[in-house]
Amino acid sequence: MRVLLVEDDFRLARALVTALRNQEYDVAHVMTGADALAAPAADLVLLDLGLPDVDGFALCRQLRERSDAGIIVLTARAEERDRVAGLRGGADDYVVKPFGFPELQARIEAVLRRARPRPAGVHAVGRLRVDVDGHTAFVGTSEVALTNIEFQLLTMLAAEPGRTVRSDRMLAEVWHTTWPPMRRTLHVHMSTLRGKLGEAARMIRTVRGVGYRLSAAEEEAG
Ligand code: CA
Repeated sequence: MRVLLVEDDFRLARALVTALRNQEYDVAHVMTGADALAAPAADLVLLDLGLPDVDGFALCRQLRERSDAGIIVLTARAEERDRVAGLRGGADDYVVKPFGFPELQARIEAVLRRARPRPAGVHAVGRLRVDVDGHTAFVGTSEVALTNIEFQLLTMLAAEPGRTVRSDRMLAEVWHTTWPPMRRTLHVHMSTLRGKLGEAARMIRTVRGVGYRLSAAEEEAG
């Protein structure tokens, strides 16, 4: 796993490089935006917003246009509007300085999950059938027209029937963020998904404060 650290605070960078290497990450460190753009491709970029040569948000957009790497912004600017601006600029998540390494590591793992291959094949749960490769979902013999996001959410649930899929994992895999206010967005999309599934929506149970679970038994229980 290749990590590019873009950070001009040498002390912080040195500590992060050591901690990341201890976790077996392959780390490259640069101190300017120019060097970040010239660096070899990475799987994940840790990007300090306050750099000496470029605007961090502009660099974030440039990095996003050039690669599919996950981007986590390291910022001292804790205001909400900056977070939103950064997410629109292509960042996957944020860590506000000062932060502990365990927090950063948890966010790195959440962002990198999106790079994992999606579950393939056909998942059949009760009357519901989700064909991942064909990107189609059926209740009985009726195809259900879903948006891409609804399809991704349903696929995550159908891939692990009877198990609760955590909300933060759904946010990480579908929206590439674990930012808590996004739970509201997840809730809205789950509502529209349920609406489209009709009676089969009873198979999806909300596990309050945790996530969602899909199982054929829920439908039988009514
Ligand atoms: Ca800085």
